[in-house]
Amino acid sequence: MPMPPSPAPEASKPIRNMRITFWGVQGSCTISPSRADVDEYARRVATETLERSIRDIAARLERGECSTQTLRALTGPDALDAYQRQLGIPSLPTFGGDTTCVEVQTAHGDTLLFDLGSGLRAFSHHAVAHWPMGRPRTLHVFASHEHLDHRNGLPFASLCFDRTNPFTLHVHGPRPALAALDDRYGFFSRELSTVMHYDDPIDFRNVSATFIGTEIRTPSDPSAPSADPPPWNARDINDPIRIGQTTVTPFEVYHARTQCLAYHVRHADASFVFCTDHELRHGDDPSDPRQIRSMEAEARVVAHCKGADVAYFDGQYFLEEYEGRKGIGGNTPVNRMDWGHSCIEDVIERSGQCRVRRTYIGHHDPERPWDERRKIDEDLRSISRDAHSHIALARAGTVIEL
Ligand SMILES: [Zn+2]
Ligand SMILES: [Zn+2]
Repeated sequence: MPMPPSPAPEASKPIRNMRITFWGVQGSCTISPSRADVDEYARRVATETLERSIRDIAARLERGECSTQTLRALTGPDALDAYQRQLGIPSLPTFGGDTTCVEVQTAHGDTLLFDLGSGLRAFSHHAVAHWPMGRPRTLHVFASHEHLDHRNGLPFASLCFDRTNPFTLHVHGPRPALAALDDRYGFFSRELSTVMHYDDPIDFRNVSATFIGTEIRTPSDPSAPSADPPPWNARDINDPIRIGQTTVTPFEVYHARTQCLAYHVRHADASFVFCTDHELRHGDDPSDPRQIRSMEAEARVVAHCKGADVAYFDGQYFLEEYEGRKGIGGNTPVNRMDWGHSCIEDVIERSGQCRVRRTYIGHHDPERPWDERRKIDEDLRSISRDAHSHIALARAGTVIEL
């Protein structure tokens, strides 16, 4: 099974409002296809190819265009190659690969990035190669939270090391997300810390890109106030961010103990909601503070998703997997309450309730086999009511025009 394709180079047609590109949608950790995934993919390609060729030969026989001789002639290497090209290669969906990184390009030439997971590596090669001449090399980054799978693309991003044409990354996000980048790399303070090089050998001295930070202050910030002012700016979560003609409205979701932000993006009459690592909690005690936080967060998600053109949601589990009644991919069942991720059933319900036009479910569980993901995607597409309520599993390489 090949890895998800890289998105095509920037399309020549102009952007109406926004062009959204999924560079990474895998949850928790980057994955490669397993042996079983590759075998199943190959089996399905072989089956579909056989079906195409049998249908083709049957049609030729009916038309009297086929004989034992012509069939024998097809088995020569060149003839077989030509026949295969004529039949084509079955196109099967691919899922998995890199962790969260979603790009939004706007009609006014701004580039917004949502999370810096390992999908950033492929985005970065594309950005360095195709950045339009004369356009400021500034990326507006919106971080959901500090977890590793949402920032592990940075040390591998070529745009960090382009000394000929250095980039500027303006990173917006909750305090722990900015603190993680500063502790690990010194990107904002440009000072060495004791935990640098724990994760990898990069720090700000290796990097040519300039980092600017803006903390988005949330009411539930659990971090103790520090005597030293942080090396970044701050703004209130209720204060929408304007990037050119685009408005980005942050809002808090429930990701158990840490702060996690989702973002509503509007450009003219088009809207996109990026909402990863949010858990609609299935606790049985409504007075549990965690249950209250989750329900309050869900109300915010619903409010921001009403009538959205496109929404990207975390849907890592099915309910029976979340509750630990069934293992994922045949593995041991584990109760996932307060792991910070939502159930696919809840995402479907929310999308219907909010009348989201196109819903993409991402943050795929690493344990879920490729063929199961393919089947879930088929099921989701079959319940899509019409062209105005499309729902599917997110795939890296998807480009959406709004
Ligand atoms: Zn995550
Ligand atoms: Zn997380």
